[in-house]
Amino acid sequence: MPKDIEGAARPDAAPVPAGGGGRTGYLWSPWRIDYIKGPHDDAACIFCDKLAAPRSEDPSNLILARGELAFAMLNAYPYNPGHIMVAPTRHTGDLESLAREELADADRLMQESLRVLREAEAPHGFNIGMNLSRSAGAGIPDHLHWHVVPRWNGDTNFISIVGETRVLPELLAETYARLQPLF
Ligand SMILES: [Zn+2]
Repeated sequence: MPKDIEGAARPDAAPVPAGGGGRTGYLWSPWRIDYIKGPHDDAACIFCDKLAAPRSEDPSNLILARGELAFAMLNAYPYNPGHIMVAPTRHTGDLESLAREELADADRLMQESLRVLREAEAPHGFNIGMNLSRSAGAGIPDHLHWHVVPRWNGDTNFISIVGETRVLPELLAETYARLQPLF
């Protein structure tokens, strides 16, 4: 069955036909199947691992910006080019436990992400959202993160047409190089 954001089953996930099929278009990103099918080690946290690495490795780890209490990184398995994730630095899956300061820093980075994406990629719109728990589609439920996904008119159609195309690491590096200096 096709999967929704971060791997949750989605019953109506057929690629949207050209013209949008008269309903709201879901992004359909088949290259994400590598991520969905890949090994999931519940003991490791990719966010904490990348944050613990030296800052010199931020480009290869796709970390765009480190705030005081939150950070932003590119999603290596994006729904659209420029798909950013913003997360608190602290390892927690409990949104209600976040302090006001942590929320404020995450909000600031989400605003920054919008500004940077507007400047670099000129999207027509955005989806911003969070999946809480695996049953809601979170691939990494133990470390909260918001998704910031730039959208373009007709991108669902585009995505379904180029659906066999993988997002190559070189493209991720190019996106990183465009966005990072703007933070
Ligand atoms: Zn973590």
